[in-house]
Amino acid sequence: MQTFETSLADEQATVDFGLKLAKACTQQTTIYLHGDLGAGKTTFSRGFIRAMGHQGNVKSPTYTLVEPYDLVPWQVYHFDLYRLADPEELEFMGIRDYFTNDAICLVEWPEKGIGMLPAPDLELELRYDGDHRTALVTSNTDYGSTLINHLQLG
Ligand code: ADP
Ligand code: MG
Repeated sequence: MQTFETSLADEQATVDFGLKLAKACTQQTTIYLHGDLGAGKTTFSRGFIRAMGHQGNVKSPTYTLVEPYDLVPWQVYHFDLYRLADPEELEFMGIRDYFTNDAICLVEWPEKGIGMLPAPDLELELRYDGDHRTALVTSNTDYGSTLINHLQLG
């Protein structure tokens, strides 16, 4: 397990951080996004998903639970489980079908899907720091550690 902490001065820094992490991904990836409402999880996802090749808006999947992006070479799935009443609902959604070999999954509010989600490669926690934010990244797999190494190399 490895950790990495960085401060994000403004919204653009959060977007850029998402972009940087996206550029480091080389295989199927699962990232859990933790943090209070407004901490920047969707902002981070916007930078990440744009870096993966998506050119339009990145909407918050608060009501749809998941927003799919059919990109090359990766399928990117952006989850927001905030409104999930029960982790069992993920079964009805066919949750396993999303975590395939060509899938990069970002999951906001993974705590709401506890027991039903695959383990992440990385967990990103966004914290309020006055007007700014702090990002704390923790790896959970060897591949997740290589992603952190990329972040540390600047
Ligand atoms: P979440 O998905 O965690 O609920 P959002 O990304 O929707 O949060 O909203 C985050 C809010 O905080 C936005 O208004 C955004 O402009 C702002 N924001 C994002 N990153 C930063 C930052 N590093 N410093 C200050 N404000 C930020
Ligand atoms: Mg959000």
